[in-house]
Amino acid sequence: MSRLIPLRKDTTLRLSDKLDKISESLLVHWCSGCNEYHLIDLKDKWVWNGDVQYPTLTPKFIHAQLSCTYCVVNGEVHYNSDCSHPLAGSIVPIASLPH
Ligand SMILES: [Zn+2]
Repeated sequence: MSRLIPLRKDTTLRLSDKLDKISESLLVHWCSGCNEYHLIDLKDKWVWNGDVQYPTLTPKFIHAQLSCTYCVVNGEVHYNSDCSHPLAGSIVPIASLPH
């Protein structure tokens, strides 16, 4: 008997239109600068305030391979000026997840 691979929507807990939770410690949000999902592992140094609409996630995230560095404060993404995408140096509301 073949084992079914669970679809992503079966394993993902929708916290809000901004945040998904894919495991006990792993959050997902959409990065408007990179145009892709970013994973935030709360088992690392990052702290989430528990707010699903206006999250605060600190300290700064560094996605090295994407040259994307930011933190999230009260639902706004604060991008570092050294990001490689057009939102470098900008503060933008955290994007809605595209799915
Ligand atoms: Zn990014």
